[in-house]
Amino acid sequence: MADTSDGINHESANKEPIKKKKEKKTGLAPSTIRIGKRYRPSRLNGSYDAIVIGSGIGGLTTAASMSKMGKKVLVLEQHYTAGGYTHSYSRNGYEWDVGVHYIGDMGYPTMGRKLFDFITDGKLKWAAMDDNYDRIFLGDEEFNFVKGKEAFKNELKRKFPEESAVIDKYVHMIDEANKGMQWFTMGKLFKPWQQKALSFATKKLMPEYFNRNTYEVLRELTSNEKLIAVLTGQWGDCGMTPKKSAFIIHALIAKHYFNGGYYPVGGASKIAETIIPVVQASGGEVFTYASVDQVLVEKGKAVGVRMKDGTAIRSPLVISNAGVFNTFGRLLPEAVSRKHGYDKKLKKVSPSYAHLGMYIGLKGDSKSHDLPSTNFWMYADEKHDENTDKFFDDYKKPFPVVYVSFPSAKDPEFNSKYPGRSTIEIVAPTPYHIFEKWKDETWGKRGDEYEELKEYFSQRMLEALYEKMPHLRGKIDYYETSTPLSTDYFCYYSKGELYGIDHDMNRFDQEWLQPKTSIPGLYLTGQDVLSAGVVGAMMAGFLTAGQIMGLKGLKLAKMAFFDKQDVPEQWAVQME
Ligand SMILES: Cc1cc2nc3c(=O)[nH]c(=O)nc-3n(C[C@H](O)[C@H](O)[C@H](O)COP(=O)(O)OP(=O)(O)OC[C@H]3O[C@@H](n4cnc5c(N)ncnc54)[C@H](O)[C@@H]3O)c2cc1C
Repeated sequence: MADTSDGINHESANKEPIKKKKEKKTGLAPSTIRIGKRYRPSRLNGSYDAIVIGSGIGGLTTAASMSKMGKKVLVLEQHYTAGGYTHSYSRNGYEWDVGVHYIGDMGYPTMGRKLFDFITDGKLKWAAMDDNYDRIFLGDEEFNFVKGKEAFKNELKRKFPEESAVIDKYVHMIDEANKGMQWFTMGKLFKPWQQKALSFATKKLMPEYFNRNTYEVLRELTSNEKLIAVLTGQWGDCGMTPKKSAFIIHALIAKHYFNGGYYPVGGASKIAETIIPVVQASGGEVFTYASVDQVLVEKGKAVGVRMKDGTAIRSPLVISNAGVFNTFGRLLPEAVSRKHGYDKKLKKVSPSYAHLGMYIGLKGDSKSHDLPSTNFWMYADEKHDENTDKFFDDYKKPFPVVYVSFPSAKDPEFNSKYPGRSTIEIVAPTPYHIFEKWKDETWGKRGDEYEELKEYFSQRMLEALYEKMPHLRGKIDYYETSTPLSTDYFCYYSKGELYGIDHDMNRFDQEWLQPKTSIPGLYLTGQDVLSAGVVGAMMAGFLTAGQIMGLKGLKLAKMAFFDKQDVPEQWAVQME
């Protein structure tokens, strides 16, 4: 989704000199961040043990893990830079991330951290955000989520003293639901019918609220709507409001950040940059500009891929990181998809909300603008579901949520790379259909009406920002805004999805959402397998590698999680 503005640079609201006109003539300067090697058929190097379609964190994790077991894996990415939603891009002296604002659990030897160290050979460094990682605004009221379970509870209890017992119970339930997730994850290694049989046993090991509706579960705990709204104030992290989402996704996200938020030192592009050498170590490669047109199926088995340029690349294993809608709806021959019932299965899941992304640059560093490393979640009031429904019925209604992140304040290397500059990113939901009429237009040339619609949303997002940070009015040097069409163009999510498929209760009942498909030789990886989020997609990537390796998967798990690895001097850099 990089280069997300569809080609136009806008003047800021402060009426500073207009960059827009000049840019319109010359076009946008291309991003200088290019991770991965440009694909050319002549650069293919003999046969590969496996092909991965897509270089999101799920695809890269599968490739790097298999490489650790000596497998030569080819990763094919259609974008000009690797990383999927973890890519970064730069323009006009600024750099932004697209799908990485904060990652939990990176400051400790957790499974997520160990896996990151494993697939990057310890080369990826982490910076701790402010202990107050998230701030929830309900109108003018502020509620802070702070690092450490006890501190988290105490801060909430300070705001809701009469709900002290509820808050304790809530945190306990979050822990229990997370324990249940390990059984759910292990179940993904079994065939769908085996999963069904096993689910009788595993359901006993999971709390009964594991896959119930988030709001219902919380409403049984308390009738305090404001507390429920605060507890679900991170709903944007799964893209589903509390009355629609499954409790397990709420619990995974809440727990993920109990130990604080972390950010990759040097920006999100460092994720792919540090994984690629591990893929290359066994002869593999990560190619960009490498669009896969179809999965080749012969005698019922996946045997390779056909590229958009017509080149056929054969391999006994094909692993798709492209999401289930792309994999079964676009990449697999229709007859094969139908034969295996994937056309019907796809009807049981739905694409997540489309989104807008705003990328802002300011002259002056983060400190000079008082930019915090805390994320802001801005809501008008506590009615998350109602406000969202109203907005999706009529996009002129207030945004149901505006999320603001300050990446330059999170990265200890930002100042040395971009002295005297700082950045802000804003994410907000949007209906897809209002952009649909331009979906077949060329990127960057969608015309004035499209630009006006983008500008309309840009101004609304800026106003939301100024409401909480009025001192920034007049300080903005540059901005651009992505739409669902940008997401499709750069990341191949045809409805501009924020998180792949929806995280409702239905999703967590789909046994076919697992690494192994029913087509021999074809596997899935990435966020649609377990859950969205960088760590969710990475865990799925590891699970896929483990399943492919069969019994050797146990050795792989031992290497990643139990063998002694060099312990870093400090688990995470503290920002000054
Ligand atoms: C705005 C936004 C903010 C987010 N913020 C956070 C956050 O702060 N913390 C967090 O943990 N998570 C966050 N996420 C979620 C997280 O980024 C994703 O869940 C995760 O990165 C998805 O990884 P993935 O492996 O499923 O693949 P993706 O990142 O979805 O990558 C799939 C790749 O496949 C490629 N592809 C598809 N089809 C083809 C084809 N035919 N040929 C070649 N390549 C193809 C695409 O181009 C894409 O690069 C955010 C997401 C978004 C959109």
